[in-house]
Amino acid sequence: MYIINDIVKVFEPIKTVLTQPNLTFSRLSYDTRKMHTGADSLFFALQGQQDGHRFVYEAYQKGVRNFIVSDLALNVENFQDANFIWVKNTLRALQSLVSLHRNSIQIPVIGITGSNGKTIVKEWLSQLLKGLKKVYQSPKSYNSQLGVALSLWDLTNDYDVALIEAGISTVDEMHYLEEMIRPSLGIFTSLGPAHREGFVSKEVKLAEKWNLFIRSKKIFVPSAQVLNEYLSNERIVSWGVSNTDILRVLAIHSYELYTQVHLSYRNYDFELSIPFIDKASIDNALTCVLVLLEIGVSIDIIRDRIALLKPLDMRLQLKMGKNNSSIIDDSYSNDLASLNIALDFLNQQNQYDKKKLILSDFEGEELTAKFLNKLHQVLSTVQLDEIILVGGRFKSMVFDFSRNIHVYESTEDLLSNLSQLNFKDSVVLIKGARKYKLETISRLLTEKSHETILQINLKSLEHNLKQYRSKIDSSVKMMAMVKAFSYGSGSYEVANILQFNNVDYLTVAFVDEGSELRRSGIKLPIMVLSPHESAIDDILEYNLEPEIYSVRILKVFVQYLKNKNINDYPVHIKLDTGMHRLGFMDNEIDELLLILKNQKEVRIKSVFSHLVGAGVESLKDFTAKQFLQFNSNADKINTALGYSFLKHICNTSGIVHHPEGHMDMVRLGIGLYGFDMNPKELTLEQVGVLKTTITQIKHIPKDETIGYDRKGLLTRDSIIATVKIGYADGYSRRFGNGVGEMEINGQLVQTVGNICMDMCMLDITDIEAKEGDEVIVFPDMALAAQNIGTIPYELLTGISSRVKRVYYYE
Ligand SMILES: *Cc1c(COP(=O)(O)O)cnc(C)c1O
Repeated sequence: MYIINDIVKVFEPIKTVLTQPNLTFSRLSYDTRKMHTGADSLFFALQGQQDGHRFVYEAYQKGVRNFIVSDLALNVENFQDANFIWVKNTLRALQSLVSLHRNSIQIPVIGITGSNGKTIVKEWLSQLLKGLKKVYQSPKSYNSQLGVALSLWDLTNDYDVALIEAGISTVDEMHYLEEMIRPSLGIFTSLGPAHREGFVSKEVKLAEKWNLFIRSKKIFVPSAQVLNEYLSNERIVSWGVSNTDILRVLAIHSYELYTQVHLSYRNYDFELSIPFIDKASIDNALTCVLVLLEIGVSIDIIRDRIALLKPLDMRLQLKMGKNNSSIIDDSYSNDLASLNIALDFLNQQNQYDKKKLILSDFEGEELTAKFLNKLHQVLSTVQLDEIILVGGRFKSMVFDFSRNIHVYESTEDLLSNLSQLNFKDSVVLIKGARKYKLETISRLLTEKSHETILQINLKSLEHNLKQYRSKIDSSVKMMAMVKAFSYGSGSYEVANILQFNNVDYLTVAFVDEGSELRRSGIKLPIMVLSPHESAIDDILEYNLEPEIYSVRILKVFVQYLKNKNINDYPVHIKLDTGMHRLGFMDNEIDELLLILKNQKEVRIKSVFSHLVGAGVESLKDFTAKQFLQFNSNADKINTALGYSFLKHICNTSGIVHHPEGHMDMVRLGIGLYGFDMNPKELTLEQVGVLKTTITQIKHIPKDETIGYDRKGLLTRDSIIATVKIGYADGYSRRFGNGVGEMEINGQLVQTVGNICMDMCMLDITDIEAKEGDEVIVFPDMALAAQNIGTIPYELLTGISSRVKRVYYYE
């Protein structure tokens, strides 16, 4: 708990208004969406994707009375009982406060950095130390300038050791992280290629990352991952194959499922088996072994525990549940910080009315009053209709929530009572420590997914949205296109994320798509591109906003509203400036205005048009003509009606190539899903990955043929794999006979023979593969589209609905 007046100096304030200097706070907040109550917190108006100052009022309403801001123009007259501290940079102010908090910490703090493997090494170390030490760790991959600050805030001296991850993307960043973490021990995991992370050279990158260790007494590294001159430093404790390594690898041999290593530690020889065969996992495991040895864990314990390591799957998974429900599966680990993140995600889900939580006991935590108090705080951030607790220790506890709580002794106990619980119309978060194996519960509650799935990474979608936001002015609104089942990626699953990220508008093609979103709890304004007059009832019932593209549809709509006595219904006027699809042509504007001026039933929310070739260099002049024509007609409408409305014309490629045409709003479509033919300096992440598995493998001699019509003639003895995806799934027949390429275990293979309805065959003669192996159907979707003469839009939206969508966050 801190008193504002005591710490105000830390921020080096430019100006202060302290109406209640003795107010205290114990929580940090920066995001009003994630805030249940603001009492007891200090709010930082960060300049992130959106300007935090815009949310000061909302934070105040939620109870916040302490604010750190940077906008000197901010008017605080209406917040008479609140404290305001103006600083130059709110993020740096937050970091200075965390540094101050760090002063009170005496336990060893281990700082972990490197290009790859930071999160894995952190999570594994924490698993390996369970029961031996009380470990505090930064949650998930919270390793950024903000993530590290938040990670450290809850650290107390009640732990034996803290594991904190640090990640940077350019020079001059690490010292800010170092100042907060001040690692007494350091771990460097690996050094990747320079260009991947925004550095000019490997040397520069290593030097920057190394800044984390300026105060560390020891630095643990794989010697192969750092440049030679670093190794001579006496603080280095390395593993590797050379004489100078403290932990030496004498021999290493991988079998089918594990790797046997012969090691020598300070001249003591021993063997270890690591349950992985890929190099990255073996390296990360050996880094963990070195750290454990150096902090005094015995070889016997290390040997036992290393053998039990599992690959990490820390992604939150959102699945379709049985009986009208959604299941969020996060059964990998359980601690307060990651519970908090998972609850935030639960909070974003609007598709069903009820929210429920299945929560296991916290491994390696004493359930002290202090801890339970924190747990209570975390749980109170979501309106939970039911809480199901798993673990003997919970039995003896009294909870003062006014909620429906059930406690089960063990996962088995819950399993045998599962049929009595009701998850209908609910979103259920399953959160548990690995030991409790709650994934068995999740498996029982979810619909089976078949071998062919489309994996959707919602975090990548969020990332792409941020990328495009960085290209538009903060005053320009963002409309996100979710037509055609969000380009094949989902309905409420995608809309929830967009709503949570404060886009201004959603757009669907048809009324049905819009009403489905409304039924799933989406509150954002929704524009409908092709409203059909037969669906006007639904437009009104679900509060959708139609595109008006012709005099005919306008008349029908106005008449309908007249009969219902409704005025000022929001509509959007579409102008045809060259696409020649839907919309008013130049010579129809006068008639449009005549009707609009003589009615009060509709009110124009926006006027818009669509570009024909925004990203095509040779169409530059045409695009300019479209802008001109659009602006002149929009102005004409504005003058005639005497009120203003939003104007917009840019789609994805328009956003990037025509910043001069952003106007009041942009309409982001395909870029959101990770495709942009020419994204300039944006880095997009592919959102959907279509996957299947090998069903059968056959050895077929030369001169035989594969599939229908004997098209796939073998010119050599071949190994053929059958996979369960065909044209009925959206894998076009045009991909047959070698045109289509898929990826198996990192290797490319081609189709052989014609594509069948539900299956197709691959020539895997030249690669290693076995039945059941995973197959990535489009390793490069843009290229695949090009190879059959189409565009990614068609491939994405063509993936049929029988292919299950599986959602991940992170
Ligand atoms: C589909 C569509 C968009 C989005 O186009 P992208 O190229 O996917 O960004 C924008 N506006 C209208 C009218 C559309 O139909």
